[in-house]
Amino acid sequence: MADPTNAFLQTTYHSLRRAVTARDSTTPILPETSSLDKARASLPTTLPPTGIGPEATLSHILSDIVPALNSASLSSRYFGFVTGGSLPAAEAADNVVSALDQNVQVHLPDDAVATDVEDSALRLLVDLLGLGTAEDWPGRTFTTGATGSNVLGLACGREAVVGNRLAGTGVTVAKAGLLGACRAAGVERIQVLTSGGHSSLLKAASVVGIGHDGVKELPLSKEEPWRLDLDAVERELTGDGGVVSIICVSAGEVNTGRYATNALDMPKLRSLADKYGAWIHVDGAFGIFARVLPGSEDFLTLRAQTAGLELADSVTVDGHKILNVPYDTGVFFCRHPTINAQVFGNPNAAYLASGKTARIQSPLNIGLENSRRFRALPVYAALLSEGRTGMAQMVARMVGLARRIAEFVRDSPDYDWLPDASASLESVFIIVLFRARDKTVNEELVQRINASGRMYVSGTAWNGEKAVRLAVSNWRVDVERDFAEVQSVLESVVKA
Ligand SMILES: *Cc1c(COP(=O)(O)O)cnc(C)c1O
Repeated sequence: MADPTNAFLQTTYHSLRRAVTARDSTTPILPETSSLDKARASLPTTLPPTGIGPEATLSHILSDIVPALNSASLSSRYFGFVTGGSLPAAEAADNVVSALDQNVQVHLPDDAVATDVEDSALRLLVDLLGLGTAEDWPGRTFTTGATGSNVLGLACGREAVVGNRLAGTGVTVAKAGLLGACRAAGVERIQVLTSGGHSSLLKAASVVGIGHDGVKELPLSKEEPWRLDLDAVERELTGDGGVVSIICVSAGEVNTGRYATNALDMPKLRSLADKYGAWIHVDGAFGIFARVLPGSEDFLTLRAQTAGLELADSVTVDGHKILNVPYDTGVFFCRHPTINAQVFGNPNAAYLASGKTARIQSPLNIGLENSRRFRALPVYAALLSEGRTGMAQMVARMVGLARRIAEFVRDSPDYDWLPDASASLESVFIIVLFRARDKTVNEELVQRINASGRMYVSGTAWNGEKAVRLAVSNWRVDVERDFAEVQSVLESVVKA
C-alpha cells in the first residue's frame, strides 16, 4: 500500500522545487520589501495549541516565507561576503541527506556506508588541494564551516604547544584543563601570531581560552598588512619563556583576498615552529582553493602564494564558499591524530566504540560533535561530478571575472582599485576591493550598486574610508556575460 507520507512529501517537494526553479538570472537577487514585510507579519509569536498540520505549514512556507528568501546562492552576481552557491549534484545529494537523515558519529560498517563516504570525500579533497596523501592528515573531519575549523585548529594547537612543555609528566590540557596544564608547564600565556586574521579567529581564541587579546597581528608593513612578518614571528618565538605560540597563516585575507606567505615563507615558518615548539594553523577558508587552478602562467603568482601550505599542522577549508556545496560545511585537516584524540576523544563511552580493527576512525573522536549531519555527501557529489578539471575551470572562471573587474576599476577615471593600484592583476584571486573617487558617490556606493538589483556587493572600510568589497564565488559565473553586467552597473552608479 502506498505510504501517504511519501505521497505528501512528493507533492510538496515538487511544489517547493518549482518555487525555486521559477527563479532565474532575471530574478532580483534580494526579495521585495513587501515580501519581507508580509513574511514577518506572518510569523506567529506563540506556539499554536493545536498544530496546523503539514499541508497548511508547507503552504504557509511556500506563500509567505519563500518569497522573502534571497536568491544570493542562485546568482552569479551576488558578490557579498564569500558565499558560493550549490553545484547541482551537491544540492541533489543534500536532499538525500535530509530525507535519509543519517547520523555520522561512530564508524559502524555493518550499519551504513556513510562513514566510508565521508572518508572518501575527505581523501578526494586532500587530492584536489594537493595536500599530499590522506594518511598525512589522519585528524581529518567535516565541520560546520571555517569558524568551526578555526576553533578546532586553536584547540589542537593549544593542546600541543602547552603539551610540548609537559612531555613525560602525563599532564595534558584535555585532562588537567587549561589553567592546570599551564600552571604545571610554567606557561603564563598562549598567543596566536597572525596577519590579517579573520574575525572568526578572535572568536575561536575566546572559545578555547586564549582570549581576543592573545591574538597578535604581525603585519609585514602598512602597505601589505596581510603579509606575515617572519622576523617578528621569530622574535616572538624566542622572547618571553613563559609564552607559547600558535602561528595562524591567513590564506587569504578577507578584505583583499591576498596571502600571508609565499613559497619561501612556509618552509621558514615550519623550521621556526619545529625549533621553538609552535603550531602552524592555516586559515585557508576560501584562499586555499587557488591551489586548484589550472597549471597555466596566469596563475603562477597565486600558486607561489599558496605553495607550502601543506607544511602546516592544521588547516581550515570552507565547503560552502568556493567548493560550492550547501550550508553548512567546512573541513578540518590535522597531522597529529593523537592531538585530535586527546582533545575530542569521548572518554568512557563503551557503547560508542566501533571495534578495534576499524580502518576508519569514528568522527566523534576527531571533531567537536557527536551526532552530526552527513554533510560529506554533497561534497562527495560535487567532487565526483566536477573532477579535477571541472573544479579547476570553475575556480578559473571566478578568478577570470574578478580580474576583469579589477582591470576595469583600475583603468576607470571614476574608481580607485585598492589596496594598491600598481599591483599586478595576477595578484587577484576572487576578491576585488575598490572605492569611488567622488566622495559623495563613495558614501552611497554600496547602496547604489545593490539597489540596481543586478549585482550585490559588501561594504567594508580600508584605511579608515568606506570601500566596496566584491567577492566572486559562485559556480554559475560566466566571465563575459557577468562582466558586461558589472561594467554597466559600475558605469551607471557613478552618474546617478
Ligand atoms: C569565511 C571565513 C571564515 C569563517 O567561515 P564560516 O564558514 O563563515 O564559519 C574564516 N576565515 C576566513 C578566511 C573566511 O573567509
